[in-house]
Amino acid sequence: MTKNVLIVGGGTGGTIAANLLSYKLREEIRRGEVRIQLIEQSKRHFYQPAYLLIPFGLSEVSEAVKSERELLSESVELITERATRINVEDRFVETEKGKYTYDYLIIATGSVPDPSQVQGLSEGAHHFYDLDSSLKLEESLAKFNGGKIVVGVAGVPYKCPPAPLEFTFLVEDYFRRRHMRNKVEIEYLYPLPRVFPIESVADFAYNIMLERGIKANLLFNIESVDPGKKEIISMEGDSTKYDLAVIIPPHRGADVIIKSGIGDKGGWIPTDRYTLNMKNYDDVYVIGDATDLPISKAGSTADFEASVVSSRIADSIRGIKPRAVYDGRVMCFLLSKIGEGSLLVFDYENPSKPVKPNFFCYWYKMAYNRLYWNITARALLPGFGV
Ligand SMILES: Cc1cc2nc3c(=O)[nH]c(=O)nc-3n(C[C@H](O)[C@H](O)[C@H](O)COP(=O)(O)OP(=O)(O)OC[C@H]3O[C@@H](n4cnc5c(N)ncnc54)[C@H](O)[C@@H]3O)c2cc1C
Repeated sequence: MTKNVLIVGGGTGGTIAANLLSYKLREEIRRGEVRIQLIEQSKRHFYQPAYLLIPFGLSEVSEAVKSERELLSESVELITERATRINVEDRFVETEKGKYTYDYLIIATGSVPDPSQVQGLSEGAHHFYDLDSSLKLEESLAKFNGGKIVVGVAGVPYKCPPAPLEFTFLVEDYFRRRHMRNKVEIEYLYPLPRVFPIESVADFAYNIMLERGIKANLLFNIESVDPGKKEIISMEGDSTKYDLAVIIPPHRGADVIIKSGIGDKGGWIPTDRYTLNMKNYDDVYVIGDATDLPISKAGSTADFEASVVSSRIADSIRGIKPRAVYDGRVMCFLLSKIGEGSLLVFDYENPSKPVKPNFFCYWYKMAYNRLYWNITARALLPGFGV
């Protein structure tokens, strides 16, 4: 009987997992013993790290979007439909058009930035967490002719934790290069008592802020934004004015996870930190932003996890006890200005020691905008990614 591996969500994690499985199980697929199906609601694949760079003219739409089908190995069956229900008891996924059963399921539905959770956020603030918003922000930055820019985070967890810091550093550099730095005040709002969750990175980033005249306003949990008064109000009873606000919206799990009742209250799926199984379901795996794991929601995380999960499924199909386990590895670049970046690598056991900012890290991150499409998404070098 043919074994069905079904993947829901063809973003970073789902695409890499589908391709890896198609390589690992090449022979079994050829003999008709295994079938790999990927359900993805969009025909387009988005490379989200480009959204950080677009506002500064450092990347463009053509580097952020490509066809999903073209990234996938021929043996992966792509189903361009929206999943409406995942039933892990009876082992099927429903879409608007059909019902798909599975022997193994990988859930890779990502996370959703949701500005509607904070009053006034959509009307009063920019963000760069989707392509349209990033393009709008590019226009607003180009027109900005001085005043106060506030960059902040409106809730944890949010994907790519270094991105708000990187935006803050890049915006400072952007106006310095335009000879306008003396006309621009920059304030960074963060809900925690330091500028980043990991202490070593927070110290490192805070020193850069001090050197470059960026104000950190900490323990500032954004409650609402008043677009009329151009003011951001915190749950702590504080407030701050802005001329241009760039606020990362709160995140939640995908609609299908919430509607299927398989997530926690944020829509994150309870996941075993080592095996990546959905808790209590040996035939269901969760990768990428969709998990409830206490690690960074990042493309590199999804890449490392896709590698573990595809190995485990290939082992199971071949009747071997699954061996691969995830060690919590995450790898992220942190740009500190144009031409300079640092690298953060950490796992469950070892916290990050940020690398001294250098040109190579900057260059690698920029080159990676192309390597992602040709290497990572095609799963040619699993675990290489960011
Ligand atoms: C501005 C920005 C900068 C970033 N920079 C970096 C970086 O430098 N390094 C890094 O490692 N990470 C970075 N990230 C984070 C990274 O992009 C995400 O963590 C990563 O894409 C998560 O992969 P995923 O597969 O879990 O989810 P995604 O890649 O978001 O894919 C989820 C997929 O599921 C699909 N889906 C959802 N619901 C359904 C449904 N019901 N039916 C069918 N399909 C569905 C979606 O259409 C989507 O294609 C950045 C993110 C942003 C926004």
